[in-house]
Amino acid sequence: MHNKMISRFPVSTPAYPWDLLDEGVDAFLDGVIEHIGANTVFTPLCYYMEEGSAFWWGAVMPHNRKIRRYFPEDGLHYFTPDPEFFHDTCIKPDRSKDPLLEGFDAIEALQKPLSARGMKLSVWFPLFKNPYLARKYPDCTPVDIFGGRQKHGLCPNNPNVRGYVRGIIRNVIAKYSFASIGLDKFGIEYWAGGPQGEGWYNRLENGPQWSQDVDPVFLLLNAPCFCEHCSSQARQWGYDWDLIRQRVAELANGFLARKPSIVFELSKKGYFDGEEGIARLILEEPAIYQWLRFKMQTLTSVAAEIKSILKQEAPAVKLSAGLDPPVRQNFQRFRHYGWLYGSSYRDVAGVVDGIGIGSGWSLEEKYYCAMLAKEAIGGRCDWGLDVHAVSPADPDYVRKQVELYNEMGMTNFVVFGYTWAPLENLWAARDALRRLENTIR
Ligand SMILES: [Zn+2]
Repeated sequence: MHNKMISRFPVSTPAYPWDLLDEGVDAFLDGVIEHIGANTVFTPLCYYMEEGSAFWWGAVMPHNRKIRRYFPEDGLHYFTPDPEFFHDTCIKPDRSKDPLLEGFDAIEALQKPLSARGMKLSVWFPLFKNPYLARKYPDCTPVDIFGGRQKHGLCPNNPNVRGYVRGIIRNVIAKYSFASIGLDKFGIEYWAGGPQGEGWYNRLENGPQWSQDVDPVFLLLNAPCFCEHCSSQARQWGYDWDLIRQRVAELANGFLARKPSIVFELSKKGYFDGEEGIARLILEEPAIYQWLRFKMQTLTSVAAEIKSILKQEAPAVKLSAGLDPPVRQNFQRFRHYGWLYGSSYRDVAGVVDGIGIGSGWSLEEKYYCAMLAKEAIGGRCDWGLDVHAVSPADPDYVRKQVELYNEMGMTNFVVFGYTWAPLENLWAARDALRRLENTIR
């Protein structure tokens, strides 16, 4: 069975704790090799419910034997955090409370079976999207211009949040051995609709449309963060924070003063599609430009801090970041433009070893987003897009993604995701990857 693994380039797929408990770690890894040819798995340190249920049958895993549906807990860790690493922060992360996962340490359980097969392990976690910790520590959540706290996220400029992130990184590199660590949901959380920021649909015309896409400029002005820690960090970096605050408030309030019936009629005619309003705003309003740059500098400084910890304490561990689309929306409806969220492909590429590119669902969007991201990255780090094998993908779509990414020069394939995808889609990925492997000289 092991000789079926792709060996000429990295091929990975997620291994969630509940995946491993279905038939056991050995059966899981043998399945990953048999059905995908994967040589790497990545496993989360913590997760949150909406992401698990977003794919696409709502957390159903079609080819599992026992655990056929699983809704992850919000923001609880799958290992037992050691309090030793969290002295310099009020944030004390907690272990999963699900009886199904009790006593099970996915990373520990994976280590020997992976090395026995010659496979690699990556770990990753959503840094600032953590509804559990946000509700436990509301003072650490981002604040928008109206004073609203985004209680599904954590502000990256809050010293307690930074202490928590450092603690997690140091805790896992001290406790386990793995090849790389991934930073997921790498941005300043904003409310994209719905009680947990997961977005919601309305049915304008042939919907679904994003509620906030009624005017994307308002989406931008609605986004955090204006907490005291962002204020002092911005001033320290030389930003005119008073001007930023004042101008964002004036412009955001302007939206509330408009006649909603007229805005709504225009939105139905597509008047707010595209990003023209945002281009005007950034050109004409230096405070808005400064504000967006401050957010990007914030996220880049987070990546740089983590990279410097790794350089000192675990130099062999690579760092990667998953970024949201450079333009337009992610296919997951709770994500929009990466730059609004504070992530810059151009800036982050100078710090990390690899970037996961976000995009829409169609092949055309994947191509277009990846070309933009590639130009911004400028060869300074690795990059890749996921091969989406989850429904509603079909085998042909899976094959075309592999072929397109190869044409674009991608050499590191992530097949998403093993237990959520139908087997025929996984086989399509495996066969396309094997054809690729055979054409490499
Ligand atoms: Zn803040």
